[in-house]
Amino acid sequence: MHIKSAEFVCSNTKIEKLPGPTLPEYAFIGRSNVGKSSLINSLTGKKGLAKTSQKPGKTQLINHFLINDDWYLVDLPGYGFAQASKKNRAEWEKFIRRYLVLRANLQCVFVLVDSRHEPQKIDLDFCYWLGEQGIPFMIVFTKADKQSKIKSDQNIAKFRAALLQWFEEVPAHFLTSAETKLGTAEILSIIDGINQQ
Ligand code: GDP
Repeated sequence: MHIKSAEFVCSNTKIEKLPGPTLPEYAFIGRSNVGKSSLINSLTGKKGLAKTSQKPGKTQLINHFLINDDWYLVDLPGYGFAQASKKNRAEWEKFIRRYLVLRANLQCVFVLVDSRHEPQKIDLDFCYWLGEQGIPFMIVFTKADKQSKIKSDQNIAKFRAALLQWFEEVPAHFLTSAETKLGTAEILSIIDGINQQ
């Protein structure tokens, strides 16, 4: 898929104020600092589209971007701030989980996981919850340029093995880098394929 246009549409704190569910939508989510904003910018070819390195504790927003006048890319707030209070975390959970469960035009959630780390409970739990809810998702391993391919592949294998304890079939995954653009064409191609269905 060639990205002809990528425009910011709106930021929301309320599910009720999201754009009408008229176009297919793809959500990106992961721990804070996983590289989500960088990957969104790399995917769309627009450097400043998603704000990188947002401070923890900032307002939790659902950001909609319109791509090629054809589909929405949605930047969801990062989870897992060590500093976040219990109350903030509970609010994040309620808000995002409501969005994920209720959003009728949501085609797929891309769960971002740092390829440098061994599987983390918070990411695995989130995948498990998506599976339990029947929400389609794929896993995007980020920052591949930061270590050897062997190391990334080892961490990916461990993550997949952990998911296999819950799922009969583990969802598709991508190894990506916002720096080298590794994996970005594959993600856009998957989105294109779903949009054509
Ligand atoms: P977010 O909090 O998930 O949106 O993460 P950011 O996109 O702000 O990235 C967090 C940090 O990781 C920033 O310093 C980025 O420059 C860096 N980063 C993100 N993606 C990559 C990548 O693919 N390769 C490298 N080398 N650094 C990355």
